[in-house]
Amino acid sequence: MSSSHVLVLNCGSSSLKFAIIDIESGAEVLCGLAECLAEQHPLIKYKYDGAKQTITLNEGDAHQIAIARLVELVKHLGLDEQLIAVGHRVVHGGEHFTHSVLIDDNVLQAIKQTSTLAPLHNPANLLGIEAAKTAFSTLPQVAVFDTAFHQTMKPQAFLYALPYSLYKNHGIRRYGFHGTSHYYVSTQAHQILGLDKNNSRIVSAHLGNGCSVTAIKNGQSVDTSMGLTPLEGLMMGTRSGDIDPGIFAFLVNQLKYSPTQVDLLLNKQSGLLGISELSNDCRTIEEAATNGHEQAKLALDIFCYRLAKQIAAFAVPLAGLDALIFTGGIGENSDVIRSNVVSQLEFLGLQLDNNKNLAARFGQQGVITSSNSPCAIVIPTNEEWVIATDSAAIAKEQ
Ligand code: ADP
Repeated sequence: MSSSHVLVLNCGSSSLKFAIIDIESGAEVLCGLAECLAEQHPLIKYKYDGAKQTITLNEGDAHQIAIARLVELVKHLGLDEQLIAVGHRVVHGGEHFTHSVLIDDNVLQAIKQTSTLAPLHNPANLLGIEAAKTAFSTLPQVAVFDTAFHQTMKPQAFLYALPYSLYKNHGIRRYGFHGTSHYYVSTQAHQILGLDKNNSRIVSAHLGNGCSVTAIKNGQSVDTSMGLTPLEGLMMGTRSGDIDPGIFAFLVNQLKYSPTQVDLLLNKQSGLLGISELSNDCRTIEEAATNGHEQAKLALDIFCYRLAKQIAAFAVPLAGLDALIFTGGIGENSDVIRSNVVSQLEFLGLQLDNNKNLAARFGQQGVITSSNSPCAIVIPTNEEWVIATDSAAIAKEQ
């Protein structure tokens, strides 16, 4: 049997997503999720050979135990001998990392240093790396950063109009996230649409629970909507996206919120959930809006208006638009949101084709506009594939 499998780990604060990808065939051999880690009912759900299974963990079991059980599972299924690398999704690479790297002590140190910029994410990513290093000590471990693709942005795009010393001394700047997804779908778009990599203008909209838009010129990120943290930019499931920064002082000084409460409000209680007062889940909001729920309709209207405005704004750094990509759970499935957004962008030359828009759902890729250029296209994202292929390439160099 050939060795061509990569274990992909995406370690969040209370969850661990995993997959084993065969980089020769592109097949996802195993995939799953360990959730509610360190909580009351932690468990691992996984899919192997078409069958879904669950492993129950003990109360309070956290990442190390979950990874140990995952290792047992991988060995039990006889998949360990075919592994050539472990690829880790790391959320924040700061300015250290412009591409994926083999993890050594220096890299670990740099990821630790960057934890101040991503206090919720990087420490969890590090837990995953440490546990995987112990479990698969002979395998190369590779870090793939969410921020790396955006390191091509120029200072005019990544600097905030704050005192320059905050950037120099504390690294406060726009970094952007979802880089692996924006990179994947834009690479696919070049191939599918036959775009010239040296002369292309793409806006990519990754719309999941978190949402971001990226302007991609000649294959490189030139601007993106998320910033120092994933809170900036578009309206999201529970995140506010852009607001007047003065609201922070208002909440603290007038309404006596603590900084932690403001953070919670902006990250967990705003967005689709905040406006609809119903749900953060786009499907639920769409269903309620169809049934006449006024705040659900309003939530969708705000979501689409702000998204269309951000896409149009990115025609500036691109000096035009060849393709608009929709991806992520909402981008790949919601014909309603795509139709609303594209209709607001008709002045840029986009013309929706209703039948094509309905056809491109549930994993189906496809162009959804009638005009050839600019066109809007739905491309299912595949961050695991990028992590697996980057990891395999780096492992082969060793
Ligand atoms: P994550 O960012 O956690 O990876 P996903 O990319 O899976 O999330 O996106 C989740 C979002 O996609 C949710 O808001 C969900 O309601 C939305 N979504 C999934 N399927 C549909 C659908 N058929 N119609 C509208 N929204 C959908």
